[in-house]
Amino acid sequence: MTSFSDLGLSPKVLSAVTEAGYSEPTPIQAGAIPHALERRDVCGIAQTGTGKTASFVLPMLTLLERGRARARMPRTLILEPTRELAAQVAENFDKYGKNHKLNVALLIGGVSFEEQNRKLERGADVLICTPGRLLDHTERGKLLMTGVEILVIDEADRMLDMGFIPDIERIAKLIPFTRQTLFFSATMPPEIQKLADRFLQNPARIEVAPPSSTAATVEQKLVATGGKDYEKRASLRAIIDKQDDLKNAIIFCNRKKSVADLLRSLQRHDYPCGALHGDMDQHSRTTILQNFRDGKLPLLVASDVAARGLDIPDVSHVFNYDVPIHAEDYVHRIGRTGRAGRKGASFTLVTPKDAKFVDAIEKLIDRKIEYIDGDLSTVATEDEGEKPAARTRKGKSRKQENKPAEEKTEAARPAEAAKPAPAEKPTPSKKPANDDRRRSRRRDRDDDQTPVGFGDDIPAFMLVAAKA
Ligand code: ADP
Ligand code: MG
Repeated sequence: MTSFSDLGLSPKVLSAVTEAGYSEPTPIQAGAIPHALERRDVCGIAQTGTGKTASFVLPMLTLLERGRARARMPRTLILEPTRELAAQVAENFDKYGKNHKLNVALLIGGVSFEEQNRKLERGADVLICTPGRLLDHTERGKLLMTGVEILVIDEADRMLDMGFIPDIERIAKLIPFTRQTLFFSATMPPEIQKLADRFLQNPARIEVAPPSSTAATVEQKLVATGGKDYEKRASLRAIIDKQDDLKNAIIFCNRKKSVADLLRSLQRHDYPCGALHGDMDQHSRTTILQNFRDGKLPLLVASDVAARGLDIPDVSHVFNYDVPIHAEDYVHRIGRTGRAGRKGASFTLVTPKDAKFVDAIEKLIDRKIEYIDGDLSTVATEDEGEKPAARTRKGKSRKQENKPAEEKTEAARPAEAAKPAPAEKPTPSKKPANDDRRRSRRRDRDDDQTPVGFGDDIPAFMLVAAKA
């Protein structure tokens, strides 16, 4: 059995690891840390909750012990897809770096520039950022990136997906080519891996399990339900009520609007819950998440903004109120429970229209998920005289893909956005599946203020003005 002291980490780092109470490295830590310390590029794939953060933070700390910070010249950069995740990694940095006098700057959207500027002026060794805010700082001339020696892209497949890739490419151009690059994720679709390889030079590839394996500690179940909102809500309440061992749960919806609707419904039924999605102001997001972490709020209804990376040890259950459209999201969502070897349980509501999404998930994770209390054949298929399979889920899928674009411009077109979704009509689709993925990815990127008008394509100079 490998021990932490075999990995080449510095004494300061080892002592922090001991204080964290870790007795031995996880497989991804044992695999990735020695390569990272040799200054090799790394592409690390391991299941959710298996210690990927320490796999890059610990070697980074060791490497940073050599050399000094210069004002406005950070030496390492960590990119994260959401503000909450960036903040969590910053906390990890403090924990593992408690014996180091390093200056860490957390650069995330939704909060003021002032404090971040002050940190930068004092000279940050480490930047932990969401991409949009990092670029805002570089555009204001507040930040020179030419001293960055190590670039970490966490949740790498998400960061290279359509919503983020333009920013990632711009950021990569600001950093010396001679940098060391470390990628980590639990999922890595083949088409994204190809893109990832453009950012990596002769990487050490550490795959603890096949990409997209779900954490072994999470029990997974499907729950067949009717497709009407009231039916789904009743099914959700029934399945929540059945859980004797429920301590804390995240309930995922596919859309921000569904998050808000479900929250209201659960509150009406006296379930203690809060919501988290990308259209909320940052103060509310932080408060709600903190209350959830502290156990003051047992149920969190969330969009996929909470799907990646969040490490809340107590989450006993994950419920998918909607089946995720992108199979990878399933792996990340249920990975919010069963972390660091703990047990967790996940339940996914499945309506007749979701069968194909479930198939895609089962294919991705390479295993069948069982139904409790009977499969879809036990659910009456309603209305419209069409067989559920024939109401092409393609049609539905398009709809859901299109919807987010509306959400994004909600502020610009409130009247339209408030309209209920039109009745479903299957629309023939010619676009490749990949396009779907891209479009939906664009929507739930949330590290910046809710885009208005130009959406993601708002020119940089206007962004600065709009946010000031
Ligand atoms: P991932 O990024 O792989 O999803 P995290 O880095 O968030 O996982 O770690 C998940 C949890 O495991 C954290 O609470 C962390 O403190 C804990 N952890 C990390 N490394 C170890 C270890 N070697 N032994 C025990 N617990 C660990
Ligand atoms: Mg992680």
